[in-house]
Amino acid sequence: MVFGFQNAEAANLNRRTRVRRGLTAFMAYHSGYLGEYGMGRDFVDTRSNEAIHAYTEVEGIPRDRANACVSFARYFSIIDIEAICMDYHVLNRAIHLPAVGSSHTAQFPSPLNIQIGQVGAPGSDVVTFDDYADFHQAYRDLAFCISYYPEIVLDDIKFEMWTTFGPLINADMAIRLEGEAFVPPEVRMSGVDESMTINDILCSQHHDGRLVQVVGQVLEMGDARKRAIRIAWKCQIQTCGELTYRIVDPFEDAETKPKECFYCQAGTSQDAPKAEFVQDGAPNTTFITFQRLMIRQTDTQMTTPPQLLVEVRGSHVHAMNQGEDVAITGIFRTIVDKSGGKNERLPLLYATDLTRTSQDSVVEVTGGERHVLADWKQEHGFDGVMEILTAATAPHVIGHTREKQAILLQAVGSYRNLPDGKRPFVHMMFIGDPGTAKSQLLGFAIDNIHPGSKVATGARSSIAGLIGGKSENQRLLGSSTTTLSPGMLALIPPGAIAGIDELHALGDKNVFTALNDAMETGRVSVQMQMKGTIRTPTPVLGCSNPKGGDNTRFDLYNGIPLMEQAGLPTAFVSRFDLIFVFLDIVDESKDKSVFGGMTRSMNRSQADPNAAFPIPDGYRKYLQMCRDVQPATQLFNEDVQSHMESIFVKARQNRVGGATVNFRWGAALLRLSCAVARLDLSSTVEIRHVDFAHSILMESLTTKEPNMVQEAGTGLGQTQTKVMDEIFRLLEDWATIELGEKDFGPKKDAYAYVAKHWGLDAADYPCPAEKDFDTFLASLQKQNMVERKGQNLGIKGL
Ligand SMILES: [Zn+2]
Repeated sequence: MVFGFQNAEAANLNRRTRVRRGLTAFMAYHSGYLGEYGMGRDFVDTRSNEAIHAYTEVEGIPRDRANACVSFARYFSIIDIEAICMDYHVLNRAIHLPAVGSSHTAQFPSPLNIQIGQVGAPGSDVVTFDDYADFHQAYRDLAFCISYYPEIVLDDIKFEMWTTFGPLINADMAIRLEGEAFVPPEVRMSGVDESMTINDILCSQHHDGRLVQVVGQVLEMGDARKRAIRIAWKCQIQTCGELTYRIVDPFEDAETKPKECFYCQAGTSQDAPKAEFVQDGAPNTTFITFQRLMIRQTDTQMTTPPQLLVEVRGSHVHAMNQGEDVAITGIFRTIVDKSGGKNERLPLLYATDLTRTSQDSVVEVTGGERHVLADWKQEHGFDGVMEILTAATAPHVIGHTREKQAILLQAVGSYRNLPDGKRPFVHMMFIGDPGTAKSQLLGFAIDNIHPGSKVATGARSSIAGLIGGKSENQRLLGSSTTTLSPGMLALIPPGAIAGIDELHALGDKNVFTALNDAMETGRVSVQMQMKGTIRTPTPVLGCSNPKGGDNTRFDLYNGIPLMEQAGLPTAFVSRFDLIFVFLDIVDESKDKSVFGGMTRSMNRSQADPNAAFPIPDGYRKYLQMCRDVQPATQLFNEDVQSHMESIFVKARQNRVGGATVNFRWGAALLRLSCAVARLDLSSTVEIRHVDFAHSILMESLTTKEPNMVQEAGTGLGQTQTKVMDEIFRLLEDWATIELGEKDFGPKKDAYAYVAKHWGLDAADYPCPAEKDFDTFLASLQKQNMVERKGQNLGIKGL
């Protein structure tokens, strides 16, 4: 005996019959074939008007898919290309079809026989529907067929289908169908309920051959190419020259040449001449245009994000841009890839429908909206608008006003293409203890300001993932030139930002070096098997914890530089314009208000950043309008210039913890002042803009503790430096008084001496505990001021 499922042939026949019936019903209804039974094209379109309303308003189906219920002729004119659309929901609900037993179906014959193709010709068939109920059932069954056997559906829309129904669609198609050179309309399939990640689909065993929806980001694109789908083979026998047609598997590059010519009998018997054919060109041979894409999963914790090869056709070719987020509906299948004499099967998603989910990767502001926002700005003035913007930024986070304003400055950045050639984007870092507000601020900045913003996690990032590298996909994609595969920073659209959480876990020195270039110049040279440059014109918002992990805190009362505690090289740190520190310090009143903010943030209505704006989505749109502000030829007048100079000169004179701000700080002040001016929709920088920018910069670690963030310094803060200086002063005393002629003495004696004679006010600067004392010794050692020999200690230069 055989089990039902083992009887593949019968199952296949059953599937083919279902598909043929469903497809015939679908083609008949939408082409106008049922006109003689009172269900012609006008009838179809009149009914569809109401149905579209029900689909969109009641069923929540997007308009472009609900449109699939109209007649083919009307659908062609709506989407402006020749395509037919089978949407799972529309087919399955079938609201647009007259109900079984309704008066509209009175003229429907029982049975209805539909002749597919010409009687007696190869591929011809008669499909019989017992009555309208049977027809209705078959139509709805097509929903199941496209979902489970989409390839059989595609395979069944053959030339005979089109010769039967095509002439009814429009006169033009009727004429084209008379000749043999007919390019069939595109077939779109949509309506998969749940989208899958690339990893889901690659790991799944249940989706082969099914219609699925996969979300990802367009990483790379190959060239648009042509593939024959119906080849006309021209007989080479002199007196013949007739064409023999072969339909080619639309998924494979195989081109099967006929062996016999039925017109001149060549190749049909041993006596006949050997058949010889050459491929005839267009229009006798028909081609489709296709393109391959590599999409990549974005919401992943994996070091190498999973990728999936996608093939798009016809009007979908060149319909997307690199870096765009897409949801692709298609048939998940495998193709044979011939490489190096081996045949390998690899997964491919053959796209039948696609949605650009970040078509939104620009924030669009209409002319009318610009007018309203400009008036609104005028009415509230600079201070008023800054107050509203600040209040609308991460409203669930209490306090941190300067950090929120800094997020706004970063969101807008400086004017583009200023003659100084400096980068316009603002880089910012939040460094602090786990569980402080920094992750919430990062989350807000990524989610609410620009739809193209993305975040990566330091622990799982590689140079290829963050910046890019040589593409491994050239052959598969069919690219004519060797290409670079861009990483996250290179795929962020203008106006959006890149977040890197857990900077402390990036770890690899090479990653930092590459990031240094990416952030400073906006481009990185890739020197591998090929030379190339990857552009990374993207503002970076980094977050860093102590490198020890979640259970550690930063300690500013030992001798270890803050950035070392975070595992960050100072060369990298110096790329940030603004650095804010978040320490987890117990403070009752602050703790209370923070907890209040946490509970309030669970209340949706209170956290709407748009409430105070005159138009919907006003927060994003206002920021976009700021980004569009162009600079005047004279950006600063003389007053503003001298104001900035005096701020910079004063800051340079103010030594903090043995260091002073550097020229990078000056560049940051300029950049931030320009960003503030743009937030004020101003094409010149005014004194109020400079002062505002300065007030934010004053709160940054780059101003408060320049020694911590500059490459040349000890990396220690003011408090750390003060304590270390006191330790060294006492160690010199100890060496003079207790060591005498000896160069070295026990470290524990030295510590006892320091503790006993501690000269700083113990309320503010207590003598450090012995293990912290050791960290200061390590710092002094690095500065070549003390020397260690086992448990003994010596002072240099005495
Ligand atoms: Zn021939």
